Amino acid sequence: GNVIDAPILIVGSGYGGAVSALRLCEAGKKVVMLEMGLNWEKSGIPFSSMLKPGKSAAWLKKKTIAPFMNIFSLTPFTGTLDRMDFEHINIWVGRGVGGGSLVNGGMAVTPKESYFKEVFPDLDAEKFYSTYFPLVHKELKVNIIDEHFLKDCPYYQFTRVGEEEAHKAGFKTIRVPNVYDFQYMEKEYKNEVPRSAFNTEVIYGNNHGKNSLDKTYLKKALETGNLEIMDLHCVENIKLNDDKTYTLNVQQIDTSGAVVSDKVFNCKKLILAAGTMGTLKILLQSNAVNKFPIHEEIGKNWGNNGNFMTGRNWVKPLSGGTGAKQSTIPVGGIDNWEDKEHPFFTEIAPLPMGMDVATALYLLINRVDKKGEVSYDTTTKKLSLNWDQSHTAKMRENANYFIKKMNRANGGTRSHFLFNNGFGADVCYHPLGGCVLGKATNDYGKLKDHDNLYVLDGSLIPGTIGVNPFVTITAIAEYCIENLIRQNEFA
Ligand code: FAD
Repeated sequence: GNVIDAPILIVGSGYGGAVSALRLCEAGKKVVMLEMGLNWEKSGIPFSSMLKPGKSAAWLKKKTIAPFMNIFSLTPFTGTLDRMDFEHINIWVGRGVGGGSLVNGGMAVTPKESYFKEVFPDLDAEKFYSTYFPLVHKELKVNIIDEHFLKDCPYYQFTRVGEEEAHKAGFKTIRVPNVYDFQYMEKEYKNEVPRSAFNTEVIYGNNHGKNSLDKTYLKKALETGNLEIMDLHCVENIKLNDDKTYTLNVQQIDTSGAVVSDKVFNCKKLILAAGTMGTLKILLQSNAVNKFPIHEEIGKNWGNNGNFMTGRNWVKPLSGGTGAKQSTIPVGGIDNWEDKEHPFFTEIAPLPMGMDVATALYLLINRVDKKGEVSYDTTTKKLSLNWDQSHTAKMRENANYFIKKMNRANGGTRSHFLFNNGFGADVCYHPLGGCVLGKATNDYGKLKDHDNLYVLDGSLIPGTIGVNPFVTITAIAEYCIENLIRQNEFA
């Protein structure tokens, strides 16, 4: 029927949702998970590569929405990559069973302990570094590329050149762990198995190699027999009932985005894990539409995790540039975090365009000195984001410093090929905050002013964590759900 009762409901199947589902299922609880995106594994539809964008390339769009080079037209389909556009910033998110894990680069970076302590002064950092981070590494199947393979593989010329240049400019580099199975990658290099990372697959999904959440947490949760995942179910708004249960208005869609059914879900316990922007949209929209009670901290302390894209163009005849063949999986980073004046971390990013474009791409992660705020605009019926150039001024200064120093040592110019002026201040892959742990919620993600509502996703992190965020999101979710279960919240 169209009215469904579920004791425990989870909205969203990304990192926070997948962790919550597994731990609740293991504790013997029946869980229903609503996900607006497609269950790709079940559908049997393959993911498309960056050079041949197809069904999985974009969420109901007529054209691709990669950060650059969008020359491909599409038939609208419930694809894996979505983009939410605001005045000064565009935010990319993953859609589908597995959330962001389907589209992301798999970089599994543990934050610096000193910065973790600064961002979360009330958390027991020692416990996180001895227990939760190691647990998350194991569950997510984090591994590291073999240095010998890296040294010789033509698909990693961009990393080798990037590291050499960084060293020449006086920067420190680090090896970055990933959830992509590097043993699989070595086999794909030898053509023993189908290629994925070496076949420009990543931001529209990987058909092989990547241990996305559907292969890890969600798989384990389903194996308990206690989890039901309902895909193509989009939560529109929630209502608080007099008996403190919740009612959700949900639209079931088909793969063209057409609504096939309006459904109502009633639940006793509700976990919002729709990702930072998804969770904020549900809460703020429900507040506007249904007078849903929300705490004054909701929407505050939002940040882009200091994301700032930039690039360099150069011709480097000796090294042969970054190479025509590039793996989509990044394994290198430049760590300038200890520099008091220009603290940043940057990924040495691939640019797998099928030809040598003599361009190096960097995704910088900076501190976020000035936080933004998310609210709901009742006239446009959309989220609005208080975020402008003033929020990214220091990030631009760092990018400028970095590019200049690299160019002085290695030659090259700021890349106008990729971005206007060479700076992508408006590219955000890591929206964080708005529902901050201990501020909008109690110590474990239970929303203030509510008895049965929890938020477990990137919105718990106050806008910044200094590195790519999914390892931290997963660890915080593990910590919260463990304590919530211990406190008998789901009894
Ligand atoms: P998400 O993973 O975003 O999951 C939320 C889920 O909820 C989605 O599946 C969404 O469809 C669903 N949802 C939303 N609204 C609704 C609704 N109303 N009803 C039903 N379902 C809903 N991070 C790293 O650490 N390393 C990387 O290498 C990296 N690379 C990235 C590359 C790209 C291109 C992008 C976009 C992100 C990248 N990230 C990376 C960021 C990382 O993927 C996210 O931080 C992470 O996925 C957020 O986890 P989450 O649990 O908060 O939510």
